[in-house]
Amino acid sequence: MDIHEYQAKELFRAAGIPVPPGRVATTPDEARAIAEELGGSVVVKAQVHSGGRGKAGGVKLATSPDEAASHAEAILGMSIRGLEVKQVLVTVAEDIASEAYVGILVDRATQRPMFMVSAEGGVDIEEVAATNPDAIRKLRVDPRYGLLPHQAYGLANFLYTDPGQVKQATRIMAQLYNAFVENSCSMAEINPLIVTPNGEVKAIDAKVSIDESALFRLPEVEKLRDLDAEPPAETRAREAGLSFVKLDGNVGCCVNGAGLAMATMDLVKTYGGEPANFLDIGGSSNPDKVVAALEIITADPNVKAILFNIFGGITRCDDVARGIVEASNRIRIEPPIVIRLTGTNEAEALEILSEAGFSAFTGMDEVVQKAVDLAAQA
Ligand code: GDP
Ligand code: MN
Repeated sequence: MDIHEYQAKELFRAAGIPVPPGRVATTPDEARAIAEELGGSVVVKAQVHSGGRGKAGGVKLATSPDEAASHAEAILGMSIRGLEVKQVLVTVAEDIASEAYVGILVDRATQRPMFMVSAEGGVDIEEVAATNPDAIRKLRVDPRYGLLPHQAYGLANFLYTDPGQVKQATRIMAQLYNAFVENSCSMAEINPLIVTPNGEVKAIDAKVSIDESALFRLPEVEKLRDLDAEPPAETRAREAGLSFVKLDGNVGCCVNGAGLAMATMDLVKTYGGEPANFLDIGGSSNPDKVVAALEIITADPNVKAILFNIFGGITRCDDVARGIVEASNRIRIEPPIVIRLTGTNEAEALEILSEAGFSAFTGMDEVVQKAVDLAAQA
């Protein structure tokens, strides 16, 4: 789950990380009032679940409340990487002497939180990684011991030479690690971590993703979810109890079980196709879920063929078949549907489908190949 910069900054503040004060506005007048209250220069910042806002024109410096209002007017309603800006953060502008990068993510290979820090901050860290990998220091933390003081010091020392700055950054490393663990983050990033001309180290940007699987035990964090800022298909899928991830291909996939869904996507690739999504309708028997799945898949204009791959265990094939028929009555489905069903109540399912004019198969390879071919022909 992604959260907004202003929310991530709240989590950082709670952990003790120095963050400039600010508040969020939804109108230019609100932005003006906040700028007046803060006094001096402010930065008006688009709040969308995306980085690269600066380059897109979503981060603007204002030297007066009126200027803050006019920047807010320009930024609100803007689209950044396909996401509409509905809120701006108005925050005290800082003078910057240097910009560094500090991030923690989960390293899959070692299954540990991994720090990545670089004195080349402010820019895309992927770019630094590609062009100047030596400028990045990585540190994997053993979660049993947490970040040890000498490790925090080592990271800070990689970024700064001034003892006062190293000391402040050492504290920030520990605070960021605590925030990462306490909020079950999958990613926590400060880019840039700045040094001001008088030597203060501060976080002026914050980017945090929360591990969704942990939300059940983090009710306060779950409240930070902004449904309005998420892609509509993902919201719809979550409401319907489906696991859905949008991808860039043209074969829409509807599968029961995460393992089978992965295998199906692999097979689509094997036959030269590209999946348009990962979608797991889960193990329950519920035609409504199938209807919701088809609504979500068909809303994606890239989808040129729809592939069902159902292994009936707890899921009953006849329920899925009923869902497909019901969906085809309720919504207009343009792309051809290719269906593979096998297992519990397979015979009933095939009957329901053939009565409704669908054909279904039981072999996995043939249907995947067929779906890939149909998508390619479209
Ligand atoms: P991002 O582009 O989405 O990562 O947004 P950031 O919050 O990182 O802002 C982008 C850039 O704007 C930063 O790297 C800074 O160079 C600049 N910027 C942001 N806030 C301030 C500020 O308070 N003062 C100054 N001088 N520049 C800022
Ligand atoms: Mn940034």
